[in-house]
Amino acid sequence: MSECKTALVTGAGSGIGAAIAERFVAAGYRVALFDINAVTVRETSARIGGPGKTIAVDGDVSNEEHVQRAVWRTVEELGSLDVLVNNAGIEIYGTVVELTEEQWDRQIGVNLKGAYLCSKHAIPQMRNGGAIIHISSAHAHVSWPRCPSYDASKAGMIGLTRAMALDHGPQGIRVNAICPGYISTPLLEKAFAIGEADREAVLKFHPLGRIGTPLDVAEATLFLASGAAAFISGAVLNVDGCLTAQGL
Ligand code: NAP
Repeated sequence: MSECKTALVTGAGSGIGAAIAERFVAAGYRVALFDINAVTVRETSARIGGPGKTIAVDGDVSNEEHVQRAVWRTVEELGSLDVLVNNAGIEIYGTVVELTEEQWDRQIGVNLKGAYLCSKHAIPQMRNGGAIIHISSAHAHVSWPRCPSYDASKAGMIGLTRAMALDHGPQGIRVNAICPGYISTPLLEKAFAIGEADREAVLKFHPLGRIGTPLDVAEATLFLASGAAAFISGAVLNVDGCLTAQGL
């Protein structure tokens, strides 16, 4: 077993997940990047680390076989598994009347079931304790039109955080959630592009006067994974530039 700690980050091919993976590598972690996009995950892995520091695993977090393979490859190729970041997520828009059952299942399947599956298979590998960070959303606390399946998935991650923190605390595993506000990523750019969010309006929601960056979320994630957060578990940390404190 190596002294260097190892993290598995889902949805690490782009956006917030890529920034988290990059920040963890800079902090001395070995990182397994797990993403459904085989091209971006390989490119990001090569850019931020490469052999000995990172591995790229392509697969779907809602598919148990893919998750098992990602966890197995992390331990086999990087030597251990100490930190899991459940970041992979999608956002499907539509009222409950408009959403198809298939869309609902896909939204919950990736965002919530994916976090469950990755935790289920990662926890038995955390032999010396560990840390799990769920990337939820401000949408767990406040809503926005046409987001019921997304909001339900993100609120569900908060319940999952508390329940897992309780169950696995005695094993030395801390479980916390981060709720980002609007963060500048491809996911947000898509929302602007299809008219589901308005850039000027979103900017006005943030008393700090800017939209967040992926690095804002990566720094908070690194903190929650670190020894500096040794007595923090079952907590929900808003990284939202005061968005939810003011209400919408
Ligand atoms: P992003 O730019 O779209 O990145 C998400 C990554 O996850 C993409 O590489 C995506 O691949 C991948 N992915 C999608 N479905 C997957 C699956 N089933 N299995 C594995 N990987 C999958 O999104 P982001 O903005 O960085 O969001 C990351 C997380 O933060 C999400 O959980 C999101 O809900 C949350 N969040 C984002 C914001 C924001 O404003 N950006 C705010 C609050 C919370 P593809 O590109 O191929 O789909």
